[in-house]
Amino acid sequence: MKATQTKPFILIVEDEPSIVDTIRYTLETDNFLTACAGSGEEALAMLATEPVDLVVLDVGLPDLSGFELCKQIRRDSSVPVLFLTARNDEIDRVVGLEIGGDDYVTKPFSPRELSARIKAILRRTCNRIDNNSSPVFSVDEHKQCITCLGIRLELSRYEYLILKTLINRPGRVYSRRLLMEQAWDEPDSSMERTVDAHIKNLRAKLKRVQSGFDPIITHRGSGYSLRENLCP
Ligand code: CA
Repeated sequence: MKATQTKPFILIVEDEPSIVDTIRYTLETDNFLTACAGSGEEALAMLATEPVDLVVLDVGLPDLSGFELCKQIRRDSSVPVLFLTARNDEIDRVVGLEIGGDDYVTKPFSPRELSARIKAILRRTCNRIDNNSSPVFSVDEHKQCITCLGIRLELSRYEYLILKTLINRPGRVYSRRLLMEQAWDEPDSSMERTVDAHIKNLRAKLKRVQSGFDPIITHRGSGYSLRENLCP
């Protein structure tokens, strides 16, 4: 995210021009910046170069399905994804862990509802929603770094990946195994204790940013989560 950019930047991935126009009009009226991609390939190219805050993703694209595209996006990005689905039977897959989507609307949808859902996701993921709020955490995927309360954290690769995962879904409890799967290429159950060690280091680093600041919650027997309502 560029510090100078004040409006959230939404990438609309949809091949139907009339739908794109409707979404763009609504979002721009609501103070979002928008760009559009008509294919999966175009979307990936834009995500690699643009500071996208959220992706609106149609399931039916000309070159690859929205599901497949979302999986590809998830390989190196935690950018929120809101699906546009045409059929009710797609919903289970959309919201499933397997795909990694954050929310969905079913076609035909109300542009107002779409905009409201986008705002809710951005609030949840602690991205800024207007000029007055600043995020507690800001993740820069390109530089692989995380800023907390304006201070850049010095993180190891694993600490970065674990914290990024927690930031992506505040409130969600991640088991050690799930965190390992996000951070390690070849997770091994004998490494679950090392997750605890990385969390311990992360907590120490976050307390150094602000004394007493402890946004990571331990859930006995189940794992870790990031405190919700961190947004100022
Ligand atoms: Ca389509």
